[in-house]
Amino acid sequence: MGACWFGHHVAAQTFPIKDKPITIVVPFSAGGPTDRLARDIAEGLRKPLGGASIVVENLVGAGGAIATQKVAKAAPDGHTILINHIGMATMPTLVRKLGFQVDNDFTYLGMIHEVPMTIVGRPNLEAKDYKQLAAWIAKNKDKVNLGNAGVGSASHLCGLLWQAALRTEMVGIPYKGVSMAITDLMAGQIDLLCDQTTNTMTYIEANKIKAYAVTSAKRLSLPTLSNLPTMQEMGLKGFQVSIWHGTYAPKGLSPQVQAQWHAALRSVLTDPAFVKKQEALGAVMITDKRIEPDEHRKFVLSEIAKWSPVIKAAGVYADQ
Ligand code: ASP
Repeated sequence: MGACWFGHHVAAQTFPIKDKPITIVVPFSAGGPTDRLARDIAEGLRKPLGGASIVVENLVGAGGAIATQKVAKAAPDGHTILINHIGMATMPTLVRKLGFQVDNDFTYLGMIHEVPMTIVGRPNLEAKDYKQLAAWIAKNKDKVNLGNAGVGSASHLCGLLWQAALRTEMVGIPYKGVSMAITDLMAGQIDLLCDQTTNTMTYIEANKIKAYAVTSAKRLSLPTLSNLPTMQEMGLKGFQVSIWHGTYAPKGLSPQVQAQWHAALRSVLTDPAFVKKQEALGAVMITDKRIEPDEHRKFVLSEIAKWSPVIKAAGVYADQ
């Protein structure tokens, strides 16, 4: 803004617009880790955004592309934003007919946190540790069921990497959301799942599912998870998956509204109660320069380059 022709002042854009709700679009189902993160953030945003009403909309499908496209095409008035995970960087490869450009159609608002994943199993699985699990998988091979939250979900990506590392194919069982996969895992309907600690921790703690390994480079320090080996310790060289989350608005958001959003998000992401809650679930808050929009964008581009060959090698696409 700021152009001032013929003596007329262009009014600064008002944000939030009075009585207009703010929608946070989430590409995954209600009750999953991205949804819960979005709801925690929405709660914290009310105050810095002047009491605006904030709704979370879950728009599932096409590896996150449906929700992401909705935000790409929305009015850049600050009232529609996206919270997405690593899918933002895997989508351009997973979805070959993408109706928008990840690098070009968004105003980046900054990253939130990174979350390691856990390999978890049904409660009555006989394997007591990862070694026994690997032996059981080798023995049962294509009878093993591995749940996921749909093509392009984090659980799906982790499963792809895991099967490639083990050189084994398991039976992929797609769900509409990871909360449904966890419910079936607890009931013994599927054998295994790989999902974020922010989702699996409480079930592991309550002994409702079995935990075998973490996907981080180092062991985690949280008491519930500290006894779990990393996948690398278990012989899967270079195996490391961390699910990062970021916030995005449509391209064309005014710098003033972008700054307002960035400041509001910062105040939530540095709130001690919010940080404590996320860290207790295994998340690592972003404290480096990737909290800044430009660095966030650069990081997403580097992740697109990193995941593209992995996905192409697996030959799995969300729109086939
Ligand atoms: N954890 C889910 C996945 O597998 C997504 C989510 O609900 O955050 O991608």
